[in-house]
Amino acid sequence: MYGVLTADADLASEGVGDNTYYFAERVSGARRDPVDGVVNSVACWGDTETVRESPERAAVASDGTRAAPDVDGHHWGTVCPTDPDYRAALLDRIADVGSVGDVRLTTLGFPGADFCRCDRCERLFAESDSDDRAEWRSSVITEFTAEAADLVDGEVIATLYPDPYPGHLRERAGLDPAALAEHVDGFLVPLCGTGYETTYWVESLARGFDSAVGGLDASLTFQLSTSGAQAERLAELARRLDEHADGVVFGTHRTDADLIRDVLAELNGPESSVVA
Ligand SMILES: [Zn+2]
Repeated sequence: MYGVLTADADLASEGVGDNTYYFAERVSGARRDPVDGVVNSVACWGDTETVRESPERAAVASDGTRAAPDVDGHHWGTVCPTDPDYRAALLDRIADVGSVGDVRLTTLGFPGADFCRCDRCERLFAESDSDDRAEWRSSVITEFTAEAADLVDGEVIATLYPDPYPGHLRERAGLDPAALAEHVDGFLVPLCGTGYETTYWVESLARGFDSAVGGLDASLTFQLSTSGAQAERLAELARRLDEHADGVVFGTHRTDADLIRDVLAELNGPESSVVA
């Protein structure tokens, strides 16, 4: 299955490819109406606007570093995942978007291994049944995901950071794929690069994810970037990922609409690129 992933509402509505993912709510804090008939993406705790307005709501590391966009290693602001008001509002937003159909959750999890050490997280961890912080963090994310999934009419797709090495997702973000698979319908892993002049790393990561989560009861989709790439190269790479994935989606800007039609024509035959 080959799909398109875009922030462009018009392109999302055109039915290019087998399925479409649309960025309805982004890490910038920008929120737009979901599009019918596609997988609408909701940024969970990545929310630069909220962090700019209320810096104290950002997740914090043990050295006091806040997860803000101007901090090394953070490209956007990330709210603490145990912020109760934000969590409640986020679940409301997911319910709204999920009333239209399928939902993809992005920035699901803590923004790094050393997050979050705010007073509230320290208290909640101390009060929890667990004395293992990694276990507690993954329980926070799994419980949230279970609640979110119950609110969505369609399927729920969880985005995973591209590190399939056993234990790394749990350590980094509090994401436990085996636990999440009981609540979500699929995983999506971004494997984005510019031009893909080398592709061994894409194949290695895809193979790693196939080993790590391929046996779970959840589909596995890889996201490729069309930016700066040739149609033949993208089609060849997508074909090589097929054996490790249930689907491939191409992140596409409006200006790359013709390129993606060429890629899909290469993969499926010319008739596939005709707008439905
Ligand atoms: Zn916290």
